[in-house]
Amino acid sequence: MHETALMAEVLKIVQQSALENNLPKVTKIKLAVGKLSMALPKALIFAFQVLKKETVCEEAELEIESKEIVLQCLDCTREFRPQDYHFSCPFCTSSQVKIIQGRELHIISFEGEENELGSNCGSTLVKSQ
Ligand SMILES: [Zn+2]
Repeated sequence: MHETALMAEVLKIVQQSALENNLPKVTKIKLAVGKLSMALPKALIFAFQVLKKETVCEEAELEIESKEIVLQCLDCTREFRPQDYHFSCPFCTSSQVKIIQGRELHIISFEGEENELGSNCGSTLVKSQ
């Protein structure tokens, strides 16, 4: 399953980072999941519940931040959010657009037991299509 592989990758990165930061226990993981990432939040949560067992993330909770699709017009360079998957520019009607947000799936941050303020590991890119 697609989401299982993605979540395994996320956990690998978090575990590695927790080790480097001397965190014996991870309490929370925050993920950004784009609406075009092809990963279903429900499936990600399910995979997380299964994969976190017997890892430093065993008691961690997963928070998913859904990212809206944002496009940029290549002709007039304006940014816009497509309505109903209508991917042409609302300003100049060009269909030459690029996706600047919505395909990402990355770790926003995670928190460990020894750092209540959160250990921000940056925006580690896990997958980008
Ligand atoms: Zn345009």
